[in-house]
Amino acid sequence: MRKKIGIILGLVMLTAAVLAGCGAAPGGSSAASSTAAAVESSQAAKLTIKMLNVGQGDAILVQTAEQTVLVDTSDVDERDKLKRELDKAGVKRIDKVILTHPHADHIGGMALLLKEYEVGEVYDNGMPSTSKIYIGYMKELKAKGIKRHALKDGDVLDLGNGVSFKALYPSAELAKEGATPGYKHDPNNESVVGKLTCGAFSMLLTGDAEKDAEEKLLAAHSADLRSTILKSGHHGSATASSVHFLKAVWPETVLISCGQGNDYGHPHPDILARYLAEPKFTDRRDGKTKKTKIVKNDKGEVFKAKVYETDKNGTITVTTDGNSYEVTAEQGAAQ
Ligand SMILES: [Zn+2]
Repeated sequence: MRKKIGIILGLVMLTAAVLAGCGAAPGGSSAASSTAAAVESSQAAKLTIKMLNVGQGDAILVQTAEQTVLVDTSDVDERDKLKRELDKAGVKRIDKVILTHPHADHIGGMALLLKEYEVGEVYDNGMPSTSKIYIGYMKELKAKGIKRHALKDGDVLDLGNGVSFKALYPSAELAKEGATPGYKHDPNNESVVGKLTCGAFSMLLTGDAEKDAEEKLLAAHSADLRSTILKSGHHGSATASSVHFLKAVWPETVLISCGQGNDYGHPHPDILARYLAEPKFTDRRDGKTKKTKIVKNDKGEVFKAKVYETDKNGTITVTTDGNSYEVTAEQGAAQ
C-alpha cells in the first residue's frame, strides 16, 4: 500500500514538475493559482549552462532547480581552475557527472571531484579504457559505492524542471562492439553526444566527436540534430564541424572550450571562419590565405552563428526559461 501511494505521489510530483518546467507560459494557469514565490520562480531561468573556463579541456556545468550536472571534468593539470570555477558557481554536490570519453582533458578532474565534492552518479559511454586516470576513478567509484551507468543512443536523463538530456550517440551497435574486450578504440568518435532540451531551447553536447561520429549521427538522427546552441566538437578542431553536420544542426550560437595559446591551435581558423561565414581564413601553418567552405541550407541561406570561446571570453553562461535564452561572458563579446 505504501508503495502504491509512493508511486501515485511520484506521478503527481512528476506532473507538477512538467507543468512548472521549461516552456510553461510565465504567469500561466499553473503559476496563477500558486504563491507569489512560485510565480516568481516560474519566470526565472529554468536551466543554466556554464561552459567553465578550465584551460585546455571541457567542463560544462548544467544546473536546474533540482539537479547539478557536470559534463566532463577537464584535465589533471587544470584541476585548480575546475575547483575555482565550481566554487564560484557555489557547487557542493554534483548529482550526475557525464563523461563523454576517457581522454585526460575530459576525465582528468575526476579525482578532484570524488575527493572534494559529493557525487551522485556517473554516466559514460560504457566502454572500458586502459587509461590510468580511468582505471583510478573506476576503483574510486567502487570504493565509494557510486553507481556508474552507460549512455547510448535513445537513453534519456531527467534533469528536473522539465529539462532532459537525450543521448544520440554512441549507437547501440557501437556501444556493444566497444564494450567487447580487444576492440580497437577511437575514443573521440566514441564520445557521448546528446541533446539538452528545455522547452523550445536546446543545446547539442558533442564531446570530442569528429567527422566519423558526425556522419553516423547524420545517418541516424538528421532530423533531431537541429539545436539552438552547439558545443563545438573537439574544441573547434578541423577534424569536426563538417559542412553537412553544421547544415543539420544550424545553431544560432556556438560555444568553444579551449585553452589560451593551446598547442593544438584550437579552434582551427577554418572552422571559426565557417561558423562566422567569413569567406577566407589565414592558415597558421603556412600563413596563406585560403577559402572557407560556406555552409548553406537547401534554400541557399548562409549559415552564420555567434561564437564564444573560453580562451577569449572566460566562463560562458547560458540561461533559458525554455522560450528565450541569454548568453553572458566573463569578458569580451561574441565574435
Ligand atoms: Zn578533448
